[in-house]
Amino acid sequence: MKHYQAFDYKDFLKWLPCFIEQSSDLLTKSVIQIVQNSIGAYGVSGEIFSLYDSVIFETLKIPNGTKILVERFRNQYSSIRLYHGTRLDSMASIFQHGLTPGVPEKLETRAKEMFGKDQFLGVSDEMLELVFKKLRPHLSRQADRVFTSVDLRNFERCGHYLIYGSEFLQWVAAELQANDGFINESYHKKLRSKGVPTIVVIDYPIDDLPDRYSDFWDRVIDNVLWMLAENRKNLWCLDYTITLKSIDPKYIVDHIHPSEVVDPLFGNLVRPTLVSNCESCEKHRSME
Ligand SMILES: [Zn+2]
Repeated sequence: MKHYQAFDYKDFLKWLPCFIEQSSDLLTKSVIQIVQNSIGAYGVSGEIFSLYDSVIFETLKIPNGTKILVERFRNQYSSIRLYHGTRLDSMASIFQHGLTPGVPEKLETRAKEMFGKDQFLGVSDEMLELVFKKLRPHLSRQADRVFTSVDLRNFERCGHYLIYGSEFLQWVAAELQANDGFINESYHKKLRSKGVPTIVVIDYPIDDLPDRYSDFWDRVIDNVLWMLAENRKNLWCLDYTITLKSIDPKYIVDHIHPSEVVDPLFGNLVRPTLVSNCESCEKHRSME
């Protein structure tokens, strides 16, 4: 029977019992006994982490053991949880239209609004046009993709999308700063002045994932086996990016504002989040 909730990599304590259940006949009887004793009504107890060598070596003794595990475990879920990091004023458009790649013309218009029309920055149209010309080849390579991560924890060290928004605007800010010839934070400051760091939560159907991501489950199983083998209590952060042409609004299930975000562009400074800037959260609050 499939689990109705999406597979969320970071919640390994929730799905580890299912993984163990699915691998029970690949383990020795004594190991199964320990497993059964360890999984009680409250989930996984600490004892499960002593299974390390039994799990990994018993599994590897069986020909195609990992492959069998992947097949069984993957079939338990109909969707996978993905996270998309961005900076925006409101979730309204995403709830309505889903996630679509940035349209180059619209991104350039946005950059003009941010840097050209600002009364203090006042970057000239000619300068912006020079920057756009330089960046267009990079932009066209990314124009048909929405980037997502399978592990929420990746945003702890990749916070620049949350702090500065679209990669294109970050490129423009960096180019303008380089043209000035000195560290001028004002372009980045401008990007930080609008919107709120947001992580869009997506439950995407596994069967609709492009074939190139079929190794995802091998990576998951490998990481679990090594976690057990090394007797660790934490699952490694999985740096695995899934890019999609677009994401339908019906798959958008939630959004998160981390209370603070690390800024890798400026000395890993910790920047607090002003959640009150999110219009969608305001709406939720006023409806309560
Ligand atoms: Zn919000």
